[in-house]
Amino acid sequence: MTKETCKLHPARPSVWHCDHCRHGLCTECVPGSRENHDGNLPRCAICNTELRYLGAANLAEPFWTQAHRLFGYPLQANGLIVLVMMGVVAALLPASFIGLIGLIMLFAFSVHYGLNVIEQVRNGDMTPPSLSEILKQQGEWLFFKQIGVFAVLGAFVYAGMRVSPGLGVLVLLLVLLAAPAATMMLAMTRSVTESVHPVKLAALMIGIGPSYLLLWICLATVGAAPMLVGPLLQEMLPEQVLFPAGMVVSSYFTFVTYAMMGYILYEKQAALGFASNDEFGETLEGRTFLVRKGIADARQLAAVGRHEAALETLVKAINIDQSNAELREFYYRVVSAMDDEEALRRNTNSICDFFVGRQLPYKAAQYCQETRKRFPDFVPAEARTCHLVAERFFEEGRYKDAAQLLMSLHRMAPKYPDMFAVLLLMARIFFEGMNAPEKASALLKQIRTRYPDHPELPKVERLLEVISYRPATA
Ligand SMILES: [Zn+2]
Ligand SMILES: [Zn+2]
Repeated sequence: MTKETCKLHPARPSVWHCDHCRHGLCTECVPGSRENHDGNLPRCAICNTELRYLGAANLAEPFWTQAHRLFGYPLQANGLIVLVMMGVVAALLPASFIGLIGLIMLFAFSVHYGLNVIEQVRNGDMTPPSLSEILKQQGEWLFFKQIGVFAVLGAFVYAGMRVSPGLGVLVLLLVLLAAPAATMMLAMTRSVTESVHPVKLAALMIGIGPSYLLLWICLATVGAAPMLVGPLLQEMLPEQVLFPAGMVVSSYFTFVTYAMMGYILYEKQAALGFASNDEFGETLEGRTFLVRKGIADARQLAAVGRHEAALETLVKAINIDQSNAELREFYYRVVSAMDDEEALRRNTNSICDFFVGRQLPYKAAQYCQETRKRFPDFVPAEARTCHLVAERFFEEGRYKDAAQLLMSLHRMAPKYPDMFAVLLLMARIFFEGMNAPEKASALLKQIRTRYPDHPELPKVERLLEVISYRPATA
């Protein structure tokens, strides 16, 4: 069976589906948990329809590949406590009528516990219920309901027999086939009427599909395991502990079968038309959630060409988290996908200022360069940004770009406070980058005249010295 994948991330299974747009979305495209969404279903970023939850089940592996988790299930702390408790109680039961009552109560507890196992596993919770959790549930009468279900199913067989033996056998086979479905239904609905309803049981079995037969075979096999293990125990253990040990072993296998039933409901929840009551996904801190959602929605809008709407969404997110670089970068991506030169120039200025402000001039240089590839005359409007990007270009060996930026800066902002550094950098570009030592020394001499008291004047002197040595070393 192929699983639907995310429209934007084809390698990821979809967890959400928009019935209107007919596409699936992954957890990155629909971030956050039930709590983040205030208990509501999230809406499609494109058409605002409520999304349908496919459940984390779409991420779930088929149950027959989960043997290690299912057989390990009762061996986790809570499960072990319950198993040990059952063994201890079994050991303490006297061989009398009271002991028999105790045994029945133990059996009732095991059924009650097992139905809770189904319910929890079905909701994606692979931790066994704790003893105290179970003992807190009063008035559920699950054991009697389970007996009720089997009594009604037995009555069906009896009624069939009354009509004709052939029909009786047929009904018996059907009842045997439907028994796990009835148990699962009881765990989910806690209603005897629903759990013996032939149409509902048929719907459940058909919804699970061929896997139901596989589940049935697994349940029968695992359910029979204690009978195989029993004789072994008889040989290995002294008679006094045989009964409690048998109780522990058979309870272990029983809980595995309950976990199997819960898991198949979890796995097939989308086909069965209910979403598990799980948390959707990881709960994110409020602001983080809004930012993640902003990016995810904008990505979907941009993917269908709705760039303006994508930008609006991003602006909202930026207002929530001014310092988030990912939002700024995605904003730049969306603008550069649009055919709007003015907007791209404006946004390049803004992203360059942003990264210079965050002491990341190399990022500013990267975006400046990207825009310059399309519009070679682009120069950052802000003088300091222009200076730091030019410095970065110089370090990267982009001498022509750096020179162009510095010349523009000199022309546009003659009063720039760090003009000394700008001119010195220009001189280094002449000398190191453009192989023009005469131009460099002429500029350096100008700097010396213009800033006779500048504290960094020695740098100018040193460079002049280097330049004047050069012919000798050549
Ligand atoms: Zn939609
Ligand atoms: Zn996705």
